[in-house]
Amino acid sequence: MLTLLVPLQAFAHAPEPGRDVLLLGAATDEQTPQRACSPEVLARHQEILEVPAPAEGWSGQPQAVDVFGVFTGEVRISHGDRQICGNMHDARTRDSRFRAGIGMVVVPKAGDHEPIVVSWTTPLKPYWVPTVRLGAPSPVQQNDTARLLVRVSCIAVAIALALSALMGYVTAKDRSFLIYVAVCLVFVLWQSVLGGLSGYPEPWLPVYESASWWLIALSAVTLGILLPVLWRLNGGDRLWPRSRLGQQLVLWAGVATALFVPWFGVSGLIWLSDVLEHVFQLGLLVCLGVGLWALRRRDYYALAGLSALLPWWVMMLADLVQAQWLIAYRIEALQLSATWFLMMSAYALNLRLGRLRQQRDEMRQLADTDGLTGLPNRRAGLRLLARHLERPAHEQQSLAIGFLDIDLFKDINDRFGHEAGDRVLVAVARALRTAVRAQDQVVRMGGEEFLILLPGANRAAALSRLESVRQQVAAVSPSLALDGLALTASIGLAVWQPGRDDLAGLLRRADHAMYSAKRAGRNQVYDGG
Ligand code: GH3
Ligand code: MG
Ligand code: MG
Repeated sequence: MLTLLVPLQAFAHAPEPGRDVLLLGAATDEQTPQRACSPEVLARHQEILEVPAPAEGWSGQPQAVDVFGVFTGEVRISHGDRQICGNMHDARTRDSRFRAGIGMVVVPKAGDHEPIVVSWTTPLKPYWVPTVRLGAPSPVQQNDTARLLVRVSCIAVAIALALSALMGYVTAKDRSFLIYVAVCLVFVLWQSVLGGLSGYPEPWLPVYESASWWLIALSAVTLGILLPVLWRLNGGDRLWPRSRLGQQLVLWAGVATALFVPWFGVSGLIWLSDVLEHVFQLGLLVCLGVGLWALRRRDYYALAGLSALLPWWVMMLADLVQAQWLIAYRIEALQLSATWFLMMSAYALNLRLGRLRQQRDEMRQLADTDGLTGLPNRRAGLRLLARHLERPAHEQQSLAIGFLDIDLFKDINDRFGHEAGDRVLVAVARALRTAVRAQDQVVRMGGEEFLILLPGANRAAALSRLESVRQQVAAVSPSLALDGLALTASIGLAVWQPGRDDLAGLLRRADHAMYSAKRAGRNQVYDGG
């Protein structure tokens, strides 16, 4: 421990003794790096907004300008001889007081009429209209911070969902969890480029100038994932199990489109983004139809799919009526819709996990149970026995076992028929279950042979309990209404000797004891040591 602490001590800069403050950094004469607006960037700016001064001129108070919704390229804000150029995908080029948008604070002289000028490149889509917010620095910054929080939270939720799906995979070993993790990661990348977080706090994706290409490529992959998943969530898979091939095609078409994006020119990119938009709208329409159809057929799992569609539909309708909230908060709306979609998918995945667990439990139950009597079968019985013998020394308990074989069972089959024989087996099984204590176990080892486990019983207790079991079996006959049936059983007892006995040895001794009981005239308990 000490050797660990010594090197740590070397890195620690503890506050000076007697002072309870830690001062970091030092005074500087460094200038805040301001990005110059390069002529080639400005040459690409086709859109210009002049924010005029009030009629009586500026008041002399600081004015904050924050620009949102420019998905790609640089934004220039200028007033008089002050200007900044900022890129949403490179936080180093932006004013550190504005993180979601590209902003600047200017202090025009009182009475000055010089307008504030904002310029940018034409957006990829005609309705991706940039929003410029003007106001006092404090509220404008607060709005900016709130947007940043939403954007970051959506990404954090996607990462958290991916991690929990990864844990789901570790326990369930089901491939769909891994697919979900991959989906979350694609959504994280897409959201990072969409919201400019790929450049925050330092550029961690090489987006820079090619943000439009990244955005469209990632949108194509996202679409390739989104549509098949929405199809599944809406019950398309259950209605048309053969649609798997179509889903795969959509996915790979999305990936292939993304791979070709770098070869597109600006006009090609505009065309492609339009195509993707229409494909998405068509997909939403189809999924809605499928979801409603599934619901009509009482497939209520489709509700998860329909609710996953809801925000996308709200956004589409808002676009139709050119709703101002959507224009102003498009990035946040897109990210929140994507997050809602991921959450609905996680819900569906958990339902699937529940179903898988249930199926597995049922299969295990079936594999461990004897179909005729409902008792644990040989496989389960041997496991129970092994579990008892393998307990650690301090938990060990004495154990006695009884090996029971019905006497002359072949004769019963011959006289009354196989079906009557089965009834006898069921009745004996029931009698054995009622004859033992709750903590004892009765196992059907096969045919007309049963194993009785008596944990905690010493030899004398086991002998008396097995004797009462024998009597109970003998008392079964009248209830079966088989004329002249005198049902009896022979039981061999073996008591476990820790350290000297293994599982096979213990069973062998009980089996031999049972045969000794047969040889001694049947219908008795024989102590095999
Ligand atoms: P013993 O007293 O020496 O044990 O005589 P036994 O007739 O019981 O001898 P054995 O163990 O050879 O006979 C077992 C018979 O149990 C043979 C088989 O036909 C019958 N049997 C095994 N499984 C079933 C079953 O599930 N249903 C029925 N009805 N009979 C079964
Ligand atoms: Mg037998
Ligand atoms: Mg028998």
